[in-house]
Amino acid sequence: MVQVNENYLKLPGSYLFSTIGKKVSAYSAAHPDRKVIRLGIGDVTLPLVPAVIEALHSAVDEMGRAESFRGYAPDLGYEFLREIIARQDYQARGCGISADEIFISDGAKCDTGNIQEIFGPNIRIAVCDPVYPVYVDSNVMAGRTGSYDRESETWSNVIYMPCTEENQFMPGLPKETPDLIYLCFPNNPTGAAVTKPKLQEWVDYAMKIGAVILYDAAYEAYIQEDDVPHSIYECRGARSCAIEFRSFSKNAGFTGLRLGFTVVPKELKCGGVALHALWARRHGTKYNGAPYIVQRAGEAVYSPAGKAQLQEQIAYYRKNAAYIFNGLKEAGYTVSGGVNSPYIWMKTPGRMTSWEFFDYLLEKGNVVGTPGSGFGPSGERYFRLTAFGSYENTVEAVDRIKAL
Ligand SMILES: *Cc1c(COP(=O)(O)O)cnc(C)c1O
Repeated sequence: MVQVNENYLKLPGSYLFSTIGKKVSAYSAAHPDRKVIRLGIGDVTLPLVPAVIEALHSAVDEMGRAESFRGYAPDLGYEFLREIIARQDYQARGCGISADEIFISDGAKCDTGNIQEIFGPNIRIAVCDPVYPVYVDSNVMAGRTGSYDRESETWSNVIYMPCTEENQFMPGLPKETPDLIYLCFPNNPTGAAVTKPKLQEWVDYAMKIGAVILYDAAYEAYIQEDDVPHSIYECRGARSCAIEFRSFSKNAGFTGLRLGFTVVPKELKCGGVALHALWARRHGTKYNGAPYIVQRAGEAVYSPAGKAQLQEQIAYYRKNAAYIFNGLKEAGYTVSGGVNSPYIWMKTPGRMTSWEFFDYLLEKGNVVGTPGSGFGPSGERYFRLTAFGSYENTVEAVDRIKAL
């Protein structure tokens, strides 16, 4: 009889966003007169910028003419996009990354979820706690994580690196030795950003123990401070121990359009095997590329007009983030993140649990956020607010929280 992949059955239900949705619907149904403001969303809300729309239109027209029609894209993605990424995101920052080390994809979620396939079944992974759930769940599906303990909400074969107020939400080097280390900076959900010397410590550590760092830089565009690296390849030695993931979702509003890329440097090797060759093989076998029109839209993100328009878009979200951060601080809350990130991470007041505060905020302030405990046990008694709402709603929500 056919058998299912039983690893999937080990996954605990992910009730975070469905529970939030149910609670909000129930509240709205009972109080139809109240305006509920959602600052829980991890999705952008502003429309695509004009430069991107123009590029989409013209690429659509190209696809409608025999002489400019395109079929399957090249395996790694179109040269025009990989070249401009290599130049602007890497070489301009002194990182020696070339176009043939960049793999275009339809987003960072797939890439961060799929990358584990090129590693052995018995390796150990280390993740931050709280964490973006994709890193852990994809390894659960592959059978690497051991058994789940409902009490502690942890997996027996995963190394957790707690990110707490005590360490300013910067993970310390793990006590046990990992093979793969997932890092995400600026971080979702805590909004914490890493400094270059701190990230260098991680690179040095990975090289010393022979580990590979999987670096998720999906929020790179929100970096404002000079000592925060935009790429892990700004660190010495990272070319031989790190893979980097980028996304057009948060930097250019492509959450619905879908585009991202992964950088695998050619000298990155495990046991003498080049990971670039393995990822190229995987890409070639299981993936047929992001759409031509979307890759053209991605190219427009790097045009002078596109860059200027996107700077304005990011500035809009940054203004929201600053309003939330400052407003909550004035109101006496303990807040972090929000500077190099669209996420504000707040401590719940009065030792309320994350869900108690969720209910309190929904009922008393009609504001929706995300309970920190949904991202891992160290997220308990924390709460995430996002800068992706409209400015008017953000101001109103913060003013309501202040008035509680
Ligand atoms: C939003 C997000 C991504 C981007 O995912 P896409 O699939 O590119 O939309 C990646 N990593 C983290 C941590 C995120 O929050």
